[in-house]
Amino acid sequence: MAIDLASLVRNIPDFPLPGIQFKDITTLIGNGPAFSQVINTMVDRYRGAGIDAVVGVESRGFIFSAPIALQLGVGLVPVRKPGKLPAETYQIEYELEYGTNRLEIHRDAFPQGARVLVVDDLLATGGTIAAASKLIERAGGTVAELAFVIELTFLGGREKLAPYPIFSLIQY
Ligand code: AMP
Repeated sequence: MAIDLASLVRNIPDFPLPGIQFKDITTLIGNGPAFSQVINTMVDRYRGAGIDAVVGVESRGFIFSAPIALQLGVGLVPVRKPGKLPAETYQIEYELEYGTNRLEIHRDAFPQGARVLVVDDLLATGGTIAAASKLIERAGGTVAELAFVIELTFLGGREKLAPYPIFSLIQY
């Protein structure tokens, strides 16, 4: 029987700032059968879909992207915070609600035209994944789909990220 994944996501009010309802995934990944169901559902969706590489976004994205890449039999490419990747990188700066953030990818992360599946824990405003997608394209990849465990639909990330195809397991 399928596990109700949403019931295992813990809501923490006012973290890290007043007014934010933080979706805590530690209670989901701490449950072995539930974690397994998350990964297997993603892998079933993308097996045979011609994915050449999986991109994981630092840092919670790594938790999900690594087992998905492994089971699809393709490589894992990290998109990281500034100063972490050792070889030549492309960098992008993007707006947050307050201030800006930066992300990097290795220039030689994948071959030209590679079909890339992008994985992160949660889609909120979509700013992070929009930036990651631009980096992927600069590095020569094509975004096949954006996959999230959780989507906060009321923040309109899906509309912002159009026309990229988007998949999410749990919606609020
Ligand atoms: P965004 O760029 O707005 O889509 O936010 C992306 C990242 O911020 C996600 O990958 C999450 O790790 C984190 N995040 C944003 N809002 C929340 C939330 N309400 N609960 C947990 N994580 C969040």
